[in-house]
Amino acid sequence: MSHLSANCIFCKIIRGEIPSLKLAESAKSYAFLDIGPTAKGHALVIPKYCGEKLHDIPDEYLADLLPMAKKIALASQLDVKGLDSTPGYNILQNNGRIAHQVVPHVHVHLIPKRDEETGLQVGWPQPADAADKDQLASLHKDLVERISKL
Ligand code: 5GP
Repeated sequence: MSHLSANCIFCKIIRGEIPSLKLAESAKSYAFLDIGPTAKGHALVIPKYCGEKLHDIPDEYLADLLPMAKKIALASQLDVKGLDSTPGYNILQNNGRIAHQVVPHVHVHLIPKRDEETGLQVGWPQPADAADKDQLASLHKDLVERISKL
């Protein structure tokens, strides 16, 4: 049974209705080069299950995504010459418009990081009140309780 949607752009890529530069495929995942790469080898790994956010995807599909991303991460290191054969890379997975997600089908970005100029630029604010010890303790208690009920 297919868990793909008729009008989703990434489901169309999986079905071959829209061309892609496929890197790898398994029963549950599909990997291809990003059409707007921020670095050479910028790839996407997607589940063959249409859902917008990580929590919409069944565990068995999620369990297949990272091993495929790992293979692509290994392959993308092979062109690096010299002693430093292990450049960095970022795994990015955006959930929701506010979190910079454009395509509403879960996807993991594999973004090689070879230099300062290309690849993901990371930065986040650290509001002082978010580090307040009492607030952290209260938040921790609340989250542990909620997680235990899931
Ligand atoms: P998001 O911002 O949703 O995390 O990232 C969506 C990514 O999908 C972008 O990096 C964009 O370049 C890529 N993308 C969007 N449409 C296509 C497409 O038709 N083909 C490919 N290969 N990549 C796409």
